[in-house]
Amino acid sequence: MCTTYLTTEILKNTNLDLIGFPKLVRLNPNIPLKTRGNAAISLTLGRGEGEKEVVGRIGEERVNSYKRYREEKMDVDVMSIIEKHSPKDKDTNPALLIVKEKSNENFYWDAVREFVDYRKVLDKTRGEFSSMNGQIGVVGANAAVSWSGHNPTFELIAYLEKGKWTGEHFVDDSSSMLIEKSFPDTFDNFDFKNNYNAIRPTTKTPILFGIRGLDPARLIRYEQYVESEPYSSYVVYETNQATDDHLVERSIGESKLYNSSIIRGFVGSGPVWDRGGILSFDIQMEGERIRAVAMEPTKEFRSLLSNLRRGDAVRVYGGITRTEIINIEKIEVVSVSRITAVRPPLCKNCKIRMESVGKNRGFRCRKCGSKSKMGEERIEERGISPGFYEVPIIARRHLARPLKLGIVK
Ligand SMILES: [Zn+2]
Repeated sequence: MCTTYLTTEILKNTNLDLIGFPKLVRLNPNIPLKTRGNAAISLTLGRGEGEKEVVGRIGEERVNSYKRYREEKMDVDVMSIIEKHSPKDKDTNPALLIVKEKSNENFYWDAVREFVDYRKVLDKTRGEFSSMNGQIGVVGANAAVSWSGHNPTFELIAYLEKGKWTGEHFVDDSSSMLIEKSFPDTFDNFDFKNNYNAIRPTTKTPILFGIRGLDPARLIRYEQYVESEPYSSYVVYETNQATDDHLVERSIGESKLYNSSIIRGFVGSGPVWDRGGILSFDIQMEGERIRAVAMEPTKEFRSLLSNLRRGDAVRVYGGITRTEIINIEKIEVVSVSRITAVRPPLCKNCKIRMESVGKNRGFRCRKCGSKSKMGEERIEERGISPGFYEVPIIARRHLARPLKLGIVK
């Protein structure tokens, strides 16, 4: 089920206080074993002291968060909550890790960027670990407790009451449009070109909607702008969404299967359209090449990329989900090449355009018969200029940083 829903269930069942924000950590999006959202959550619980702030609501009760705290004994059996909400299916591998302090941050970086062997993680894991259906969940659990929260974004997630999860749900498109237009510190709310309401999940889940943004206190204010059916709770998470944390600048040769890389190079052959609306082109650099691909769900981004030409210098950001193929999330066009085309010249006598006599055999005027060896060179007008371009909201991955938030890599 939706991992984040456990936050409300754990908070409902504990008398401890929430310290800091609940963390929602997305992991390497290219891993074939992943769950749909590929998320892990982490909560810090203790006895809160001093200042508190509201970070959610469960039923009629506010969820407070404290910055300072005293250590307390765990008063809730989290594993039994996980068991209660896990599908009885052996392909789901929930895991719980309880630690007294943050683990080494490399657990996070590996899980967001690499293909990790869970047995190696298990060997190095400290703390109280429990799991169901195998131990693979240790990767996500360790990643979540070791994330330092560098350059985070926030998401306010609203949950439906239990028993109302199936069927169609109502979240008004116009409220999502309003948030997209009015609040520039939010992102990925509404895709106007593709008429897609991105705050509402498209699959069966306890989540009614989620608003993503940079300021947690403002997100709570924006909640009132969402017109929807009633919901029972909401929680604001600190997340690694929109951080580009998964991306590493690598050469073509260094980029391995399941990596997300930023690859610098020159456009070689292509772009070409393939069956299923797939657009692709080669990137070359120092004798190496990789195929850059934009799939059908990336919509109008493909037409834009179709303007690339041989020799254009690019930096492609994307995931390597198949050997020698990079799925483009965004692209920097560093420079465009000058492309010239030769066409028949105008006849000096008749002012009409000459005709080609044959390949490399010059041109001749149909009317007066005068000849010319030289064609007229014309610089092709390019349909793309240097700059950054990205897939539309409808195709955006959780970790991918929207351009409106600024470039960090
Ligand atoms: Zn002529």
